[in-house]
Amino acid sequence: MEAMGDQSDPWLFLFESHRAAALWLFYFSSEEARSFRKEISYMAISKKVKNSLNGASWVRKMFEEGEAMKKSYGEENVFDFSLGNPNLEPPESLKKALKALADHPIPGMHRYMQNSGYSETRTAIAEYLKEESGLPFDEKHVVMTVGAAGGLNIVLKAILDEGEEVIVPSPYFMEFKFYIENSGGQMRLVDTREDFSLDLSEIERAIGAKTKAILINSPNNPTGVVYDQGSLEKLGELLKRKSQELGKTLYLITDEAYRRIVFDQIRLPIAFLHYPHTIRVTSHSKDLSLAGERIGYIAVSPLCEEVDELISAIVFALRVLGFVNAPALMQRLVAPLQRNSVNVREYEEKRDLFYNSLVSFGYDVVKPHGAFYLFPKSLGEDDVAFVKELQSKRILTVPGRGFGKPGYFRIAYAVDKRVIEAALPGFKEAAKKYGAGKR
Ligand code: PLP
Repeated sequence: MEAMGDQSDPWLFLFESHRAAALWLFYFSSEEARSFRKEISYMAISKKVKNSLNGASWVRKMFEEGEAMKKSYGEENVFDFSLGNPNLEPPESLKKALKALADHPIPGMHRYMQNSGYSETRTAIAEYLKEESGLPFDEKHVVMTVGAAGGLNIVLKAILDEGEEVIVPSPYFMEFKFYIENSGGQMRLVDTREDFSLDLSEIERAIGAKTKAILINSPNNPTGVVYDQGSLEKLGELLKRKSQELGKTLYLITDEAYRRIVFDQIRLPIAFLHYPHTIRVTSHSKDLSLAGERIGYIAVSPLCEEVDELISAIVFALRVLGFVNAPALMQRLVAPLQRNSVNVREYEEKRDLFYNSLVSFGYDVVKPHGAFYLFPKSLGEDDVAFVKELQSKRILTVPGRGFGKPGYFRIAYAVDKRVIEAALPGFKEAAKKYGAGKR
């Protein structure tokens, strides 16, 4: 208060306080203050985060450009395939169960619970896993999580020491890098084959003293490709041999967020059967269309020798990462729905329509057997330029470089069929312009 002058004289006080305000305003707009403020703002956030922000996600970027375009041209005139946001509604049975719970609440249903989740939910999931794999799963092998994203962060925190590597086949879901780095690890990318199947020799070459885990995602985002039984068998054999050679456990983390979204009557192989140190991370974001509700789980193979210690580490990570437990209401609702999913046929029909049309226009695209993505080669060398070409036709896709694979682009087709139908002429025109199919 000293700087404000003598408050016993109101006129002097008024004068002094105005003078102080004027001086402050003068200083605030000066060059010196501006550069100070700049420095301060540079120091305000972590350098690591700042770097990550600078390399902003292509998916987000395209999504945001799309939002701006929708404002200018109207929602129905922009064909947005940028974000993998399921457009189907959750099953009716879930809505009924939600209403029943609201009408007849269970006492204490909004309280804290044990960190791993409700016993009834984990038991229901363990029953399903037991039936699927024939392995002796029980509730202790299952931990409920805040979506697959939460689950992946938890697993990585539980197993990684500073500087350890996680091998990731590329193209890949770009958040993996950040999840791995969140726990002090390093992502090590390995190429897949031309058809995006696993390249076992590339994986073998990448495994070394620093390797802790390999993280695979099937059905895959961004390619929609499903890894077959043979490749999982071989991967299991490779990991067993390498674990022995290195004298340590290598983990196989399987991101199976799209596990139930498979087409052409494919039966997805079960990684648990091919390698004992397997950790499945999945969610109901896609199969029950509950992406916004953030509910998923981690399942550790009962054949993993150190299963108890690993589960303790997973529960610890869940707690200290601040998740505490997965959403209570959702745990109750998904428990009886383990054998349900949205109508996958609808995604399959969209896959057929989009894939067949693109091929007929001359695009080079691997036929996907799952998820809701197509990953064609871009026309011309530059994927960003091609995505811009499509954007000029109000079609939003994401350049392949956003997934570690320049020269391609991703189409997320979890949208209404009419959006696909309305966009197809634009894809055709772009193909014509680039002389596709005539090379
Ligand atoms: N893994 C993959 C491959 C994904 O594509 C996504 C979401 O798009 C996630 C994990 C995250 O899923 P969730 O919404 O369950 O956290």
